[in-house]
Amino acid sequence: MTDATEKTATHFIHEIVEEDLRTGKYDGRVVTRFPPEPNGYLHIGHAKAICLDFGTALKYGGTCHLRFDDTNPEAEEEEYVNAIIEDVKWLGFDWGEHLYYASDYFEKMYDYAVELIKKGKAYVCTLSPEEFKEYRGIPTRLGKESPSRNRPVEENLDLFTRMKSGEFKEGEYVVRAKIDMSSPNLHMRDPAIYRIKHARHPHVGDTWHIYPMYDFAHCLEDSIEHVTHSLCTLEFEVHRPLYDWILDELDIYHPQQIEFARLNLTYTVMSKRRLLELVKDGHVNGWDDPRMPTLCGLRRRGYTADAIRHFCDTIGITKYESLTDVALLEHCLRDHLNKVAMRRMAVLNPVRMILENIPEGEVKTCTAVNNPEDEGAGTRELKFGREIYIERDDFMEEPPSKFFRLAPDRSVRLRNAGFVTCTGLEKDPDTGAVTVIRGTWTAPEEKVKVKGTIHWVSSEHAIDAEVRIYDRLFTVENPMDVEEGADWKDTLNPESLKVVTAKVEPTLADAAAGTPLQFERIGYFCADPDSTAVKPIFNRTVTLRDSWAKIAGKPGK
Ligand code: ATP
Ligand code: MG
Repeated sequence: MTDATEKTATHFIHEIVEEDLRTGKYDGRVVTRFPPEPNGYLHIGHAKAICLDFGTALKYGGTCHLRFDDTNPEAEEEEYVNAIIEDVKWLGFDWGEHLYYASDYFEKMYDYAVELIKKGKAYVCTLSPEEFKEYRGIPTRLGKESPSRNRPVEENLDLFTRMKSGEFKEGEYVVRAKIDMSSPNLHMRDPAIYRIKHARHPHVGDTWHIYPMYDFAHCLEDSIEHVTHSLCTLEFEVHRPLYDWILDELDIYHPQQIEFARLNLTYTVMSKRRLLELVKDGHVNGWDDPRMPTLCGLRRRGYTADAIRHFCDTIGITKYESLTDVALLEHCLRDHLNKVAMRRMAVLNPVRMILENIPEGEVKTCTAVNNPEDEGAGTRELKFGREIYIERDDFMEEPPSKFFRLAPDRSVRLRNAGFVTCTGLEKDPDTGAVTVIRGTWTAPEEKVKVKGTIHWVSSEHAIDAEVRIYDRLFTVENPMDVEEGADWKDTLNPESLKVVTAKVEPTLADAAAGTPLQFERIGYFCADPDSTAVKPIFNRTVTLRDSWAKIAGKPGK
């Protein structure tokens, strides 16, 4: 546990926690929670909340609960529960025995609502949803009291019991907290706390015909679990008076709600509703499509948990809404991949090269370093012979002055394997495309003076692989910022996925899904979960070029 007297806070939330530890406000306890609604997959925005919730507990020797906020049976599914558990674990966090479901507290919540009714602090309202809205008013116009507002307690209790037993239709009645119809805060104008829903709940089945509203449920969940600091995003700031009101009226254990700015990322949409739309309309191939900002999508793309945690640390926690450049996330990713990725050779757009001084059938070997950043990663042996594949772009028949790769009568270094000199070429007579480059090979000991290095694979030994070149899913920084009448989906990037058949070194045949790889000179990749030895598939995680340093150095950013 951190010494509470020692200032180590790096943001305002940790300052609050440290102050509470110092004053003994919660007897030295720190209990946070991450409360996803299981109505979709987690995204990179959730990662910010997860790192804050679990990170705070870890830093101050407390606990963090994983709680499914499953109060809305219609949108929620078991599939999402399992995916959320997998994602939080993958990010590297552990809730121990503290896995909870809000729906397990439904009985208690019901009792609390009864208590409010008995105290004259809640009532059963007959207004229709339209009337409800009309009566509530707008911030600049006072609300009107519902004709049900002064219904006697006994009658309220009777109606609530009958709501519970399923006697009424949906929308016929709601229970409302009796607060203040003239409050400038609409959330305080007698908000609904219970509604009728004849829906089967994925966790508790058909037990209930009434379900608590988010605002009523959430503070009770926090209170029941004895959470100390309930961290949530800024949009809940206006709900805080209601959070406090409910707990104060019930006079029960009272955690402190603290709000922080949510993560927004360029070239990305983040709300689960929009992500679901992308999945349903087939713009992507499921929630775990490597172009999705979901944690399962990022994982399939080759993001590491380490990189995401580092990113969340770097962006910090503030009270101000902002838009974070996705280049920063990619920068954190490259930073980690550079340290851990195995270097491999792959030729994405191959052209044959014949090394005429190597006799047919002769096999040469060379040694390649697996990761120059990590000596422990060792080396591997590569074979090659008379014919190799090189990248089509690494050859130019008539090179401009700044082109340092292969051209007629020029030599380049072959990565890990000596040098080649181009002595001739063959072209397709119809298209003019180069079909074969001819050349000679020189052993590495001979030290040819060259200006460039190219990668290659051996024609005899290389295997075919499908390589999926992913790019950003949207063409604009803020896809939601479209002109009126335009559809945000019009900004989808039609080039976000290109598939090529590449030639890759044979050691890649059994690459495990997700293991970070660097295809030398090309980018970071990883094997897709659908990859097999017979049909290897690789996803491009990110290019090698880091645009963040340039962006970060720009004035105004
Ligand atoms: P969305 O708005 O994307 O649909 P949500 O807020 O409805 O997400 P929840 O399941 O309710 O999703 O979120 C669980 C927790 O994650 C909440 O505490 C919420 O504040 C937090 N969270 C959601 N999106 C972000 C984000 N972009 N940045 C930081 N925290 C987030
Ligand atoms: Mg939500």
